[in-house]
Amino acid sequence: MTTHAAPASTTSHPHALDFARAWDYSPAPETAKITIAPRYGLFINGQFTNPPNTFETINPATEETLSEVSLASAKDVDRAVAAARAAFPKWAALPGVERAKYLFRIARRIQERSRELAILETMDGGKPIKESRDVDLPLVAQHFFYYAGWADKLRYAFPSSSFAPVGVCAQIIPWNFPLMMAAWKIAPALACGNTVILKPAETTPLTALRLAEIFQEIGLPPGVVNIVTGDGSTGAALANHKDIDKIAFTGSTDVGKRLAKVAAQRAIPITLELGGKSANIIFDDAPIDQAVEGIVSAIYFNQGHVCCAGSRLLVQEGVVDEVIAKLRIRLQSLRVGDPLDKNTDVGAINSKMQFDKINEYLKIGADEGATLEQPNACTLPKKGFFCRPTFFTGVQQSHRIAREEIFGPVLAVMTFRTPDEAISKGNNTPYGLSAGVWTSKGSKIFETAGKLKAGVVWCNTFNQFDASSPFGGYKESGFGREGGLHGLRPYVRL
Ligand code: NAP
Ligand code: MG
Repeated sequence: MTTHAAPASTTSHPHALDFARAWDYSPAPETAKITIAPRYGLFINGQFTNPPNTFETINPATEETLSEVSLASAKDVDRAVAAARAAFPKWAALPGVERAKYLFRIARRIQERSRELAILETMDGGKPIKESRDVDLPLVAQHFFYYAGWADKLRYAFPSSSFAPVGVCAQIIPWNFPLMMAAWKIAPALACGNTVILKPAETTPLTALRLAEIFQEIGLPPGVVNIVTGDGSTGAALANHKDIDKIAFTGSTDVGKRLAKVAAQRAIPITLELGGKSANIIFDDAPIDQAVEGIVSAIYFNQGHVCCAGSRLLVQEGVVDEVIAKLRIRLQSLRVGDPLDKNTDVGAINSKMQFDKINEYLKIGADEGATLEQPNACTLPKKGFFCRPTFFTGVQQSHRIAREEIFGPVLAVMTFRTPDEAISKGNNTPYGLSAGVWTSKGSKIFETAGKLKAGVVWCNTFNQFDASSPFGGYKESGFGREGGLHGLRPYVRL
């Protein structure tokens, strides 16, 4: 009988080196070149302006400056609101079928320019090209197509009411899905006859400005959509402007609460899509291999920069060892690195600030007594902001890593014994954005999903989106829905 020597291993996980070798294939960088102007103005009344104050937006994977964009002042915001106000009566009076034509044209042009948009999204924000190319961009186009379809059918959406557009909408979006959030906000607003001022996040303004180019190309009437880049002060100037009729915000719960006050004082409608600390629940009868893939897509893809990320993993006690063992092996093979490489699974953290925040939580978790594991075998790039896929075991519900939103590739693993305990632990959070349930029993799915206080519950899958399906939260994750028929409601007065 021949014997084989065990593979050399210098880590505590015997498979680590084998996997590193097995997955060490050649880089496959995106080869298309895109042009980025050295400076961008604001997009107001159909034209790009050129105000003197600018700030840099960087590529978080290289820390290199990509471009300078305008920092809109209160005066600039004023001009953008005035343009949206002036454009409103004509746009609102346009027959739905005509507004639909503009939306269809936007959707088609997004498809035609999707490679360029995906590359730019990846360069400005750090997400892997396979995410921006295969997930974000198709959903962005789908959203415009979907609401183009509604624009001339609104009387079927609101069959027993008369309805009118709300008016001039202030829309403020975050950095994790820049184009997708722009689409979620702009498409239903325009379909219903509103005009818009959009404020992209400070770290990811470039794709919204390309969208402005598309609005010019397809001949969208001036003032119907205005884009003001800037920082929090620009967002505050927009939300506090006296001539807006509605606020739509996606971002942190802290800023959302402030904007809710502003809206309440002025008695204007507001929709809020805020943070989350979502539970991903794995029962002992779940298909474990699929569930492990589900964990990976719930928290590690897009670097955990997902508001509805399954950042709390609840595993039934009987299978926790198996789940952790398989997760460890799976994480070894994830490729962390250059977001423009088509093989990359986990790209760059969006900004230095977010990178520091995630590292702070890694320290907090260890200080609280949880056990940190980062089984990934990749060599991280020397420059840029990268974090290895991480999970903590030995987590208590009271730990900060189990309660607070980290917004990075960091998972808190906890266990449960009974379905009731899973539900009570799942709901033990101030948030209520999403949840996942993994089991082979349909009855258990319906029982658990019905009792989880979350806007979206995925069953035997995670992070699936569709323009026809409403999305939004409970509790401190906000209110109002985006997507689907429900997504029209915030943009009409009944
Ligand atoms: P954030 O700080 O709240 O920023 C969101 C947007 O608000 C940005 O455009 C930001 O501008 C702007 N802003 C900042 N301060 C403001 C103020 N005082 N008044 C008006 N606007 C202001 O959140 P973030 O760090 O960019 O995004 C991460 C958060 O978004 C996470 O909590 C995540 O869960 C949440 N999120 C939720 C959803 C959802 O659908 N529920 C989706 C994505 C993200 P600057 O970028 O210039 O600061
Ligand atoms: Mg950037």
